[in-house]
Amino acid sequence: MTDGAARLLFLGTGTSHGVPMIGCECAVCRSEDPRDFRTRPSAYVTVPGGPHLLIDTAPDFRMQALRHRLPRVDAVLYTHSHADHVLGLDDLRRFNHLQRGRIPCYGDAQTISELRRTFSYIFDRDTPGGGGLPEIDLHTVAGPFTIGGVEIVPVPLMHGRRLLHGYRIGSMAYLTDCSAIPETSWPLLAGVDVVVIDALRHRPHPTHFTVAEAVDAVTRIGPSRAWFTHICHDLPHAETTASLPEGIELAYDGLSVHFSAECSVDSAE
Ligand SMILES: [Zn+2]
Ligand SMILES: [Zn+2]
Ligand SMILES: [Zn+2]
Repeated sequence: MTDGAARLLFLGTGTSHGVPMIGCECAVCRSEDPRDFRTRPSAYVTVPGGPHLLIDTAPDFRMQALRHRLPRVDAVLYTHSHADHVLGLDDLRRFNHLQRGRIPCYGDAQTISELRRTFSYIFDRDTPGGGGLPEIDLHTVAGPFTIGGVEIVPVPLMHGRRLLHGYRIGSMAYLTDCSAIPETSWPLLAGVDVVVIDALRHRPHPTHFTVAEAVDAVTRIGPSRAWFTHICHDLPHAETTASLPEGIELAYDGLSVHFSAECSVDSAE
């Protein structure tokens, strides 16, 4: 059990290209506001007395781990297998060494099967050892499960035509890479107090919420606070946050927010 004061640390809040984007000279890409510097999307969740969880392994994972001096990774929750969410997986090796153990990785069936294909060298018995291979165990999840006594609830989301999963942990929901929330997922979000949600830009996009669509989703969920993530270079931090409704802000790399790990889907109803 835990005392409930869990923390989510935003390791990366940018879209797949990151911000600044290579070769772009726009005002946001040249901004000196550190909140406009966005690495690829990932978060680190710590539950006092409980596990240290990583959500996705972004291509920037190594630098994110160094910047925040991450002490350990007890498990990884994968939202899906797009490159911006998985390509840092190989750097889990360092945590294998530090912790002297294997690291369980969770995801839906499609994500797990695509991880096996993308990182086939890890699972191919004929791969020469070289610098060492990540020692991970892949777990397919289809419903709520627990890690170190903490309940994790996968929340189905639509990313264009692809079904993927966000995660609810206690009173917090991390919902990235979504362009729609299926009707059956809304009950899983009942009682959520802290929402992290995809808001790419203002212009419509086939696989991501716009700012206005994300505001609508947050309004329907009804949390006290919400933070937008997976942000592209169209959105300057200060100006965009100032334009958002009360209680909603753009997240930024290095921001940390607290939530209760105690609240469950059942107790919220
Ligand atoms: Zn730019
Ligand atoms: Zn994606
Ligand atoms: Zn993405």
